[in-house]
Amino acid sequence: MVLALYNTLTRKKERFVPLQDKRFRIYDCGPTVWAEQHIGNLYRYIVSDVLRRALRYSGYDVTEVMNITDVGAIVGDVDAGEDRMAVAARREGLDPLAVAEKYADLFFRDGARLNIERADIVSKATEHIPEMQALIQTLLDKGHAYVAADGVYFDVSSWPEYGKLSKKPLDELVAGARIEINPNKRNPADFALWRAAKPDDLQKWPSPWGEGKPGWHIECSAMAMKYLGPTLDLHSGGEDHIFPHHECEIAQSEAATGKPFSRCWMHVYFLRVEGQGMHKSIGNVYTVSDIIERGYDPIAFRLLALGAHYRTPLNFTWDSLGAQQERLVRWRSNLKRFYRDSGASATDELTADLRDEFVAAIEDDLNTASALAVVEKALHRANLAESREERAAVVGRIFDLDRVLGLSLREAAVAQDELTAEEARLLRERDAARAAKDWKKADGLRADLLKQGIRVHDEKNGTTRWERI
Ligand SMILES: [Zn+2]
Repeated sequence: MVLALYNTLTRKKERFVPLQDKRFRIYDCGPTVWAEQHIGNLYRYIVSDVLRRALRYSGYDVTEVMNITDVGAIVGDVDAGEDRMAVAARREGLDPLAVAEKYADLFFRDGARLNIERADIVSKATEHIPEMQALIQTLLDKGHAYVAADGVYFDVSSWPEYGKLSKKPLDELVAGARIEINPNKRNPADFALWRAAKPDDLQKWPSPWGEGKPGWHIECSAMAMKYLGPTLDLHSGGEDHIFPHHECEIAQSEAATGKPFSRCWMHVYFLRVEGQGMHKSIGNVYTVSDIIERGYDPIAFRLLALGAHYRTPLNFTWDSLGAQQERLVRWRSNLKRFYRDSGASATDELTADLRDEFVAAIEDDLNTASALAVVEKALHRANLAESREERAAVVGRIFDLDRVLGLSLREAAVAQDELTAEEARLLRERDAARAAKDWKKADGLRADLLKQGIRVHDEKNGTTRWERI
């Protein structure tokens, strides 16, 4: 598989091949761990997860680094203001690192609920202060940064390519960047690499430029290059990261090394809720726990996410989640039936067309919606299969393709379902009623079981079979 991925830097779909051998070096901007992540943030990591799985499915090595921002992100993403970690620490009466640990744990818990595999390297900003300081020193030495009264700034006038990712001229960037007047900056577009400590700061480190803490952008550059070298194959993030975050990462990384920082830039569009952006004031900010509390399987949300393209806004509604939940239940129960009947095999030649069609969809800029349509087609084929051999081959192929989709279809199909003691008692009673030809009682018990999610089938040979729905 050779993916054609849309590169924000060139505004084109490009063949995505690694710089070296068969190893992809990927950096994904991680969460700021100051609050529980909502489904919009987690949606983005589902896309990253599918990309990583698709590359591994094709036999590539992938090394992905994801940061945990536990210092340096400012409320509103402006250049000066209150650190999000300080806000959370005050809100919860905890030390900032305790806040970070709490919300990082919740982030990984929700990631696991959505079958998002962990990045190979998870790096915390607070554990990489020396690397950030070294990068800042290099920028100072090369004349791309200057020390001011309130910290160290990157000098955008020293870097003519500033703006190449967001494709905006400098004056437009300045006008649109929510920049506050700061007399310490030479140019309003200059951005902070290091912020001098204020008396009440909870997080600060000694540095050659006085006590303080790093800016948000320098964190990602320093950690990406520490683990992946000066040039990455891909850097990903949300559409909101294009400017200023990624624009600043490119400027400071390339100014320091003289090499291209990332060959491809991938940006995932926002998730919208009922057609609107998520806002606390609207009350439409939902978490994975909300999804579970309303009785949905988090994997139904994953299926919903895969039904959209990452470069179009995904519109989340509870109705659309319900529809995907039904789809997931149908897929699982059909697969369970097919698997019980025929098992699963890896007979390639019977299903090569399904694999090719699936791969072609993923290769086309991760067209996951078309990839899901291939699974629907495969399920249809398994249903109509004329031999157990054919059905087993299709089931095996679906399990194989799910290595990319991550919907746990194999696990659901092969799981040995067991009845609870109460369900087993009802089923035994019903068998006894049938044996006594008490059809009215048998039908009543069948209805009771159905209410509990157990559908009973009476087979022609007189036996009964049940399935959980
Ligand atoms: Zn970042």
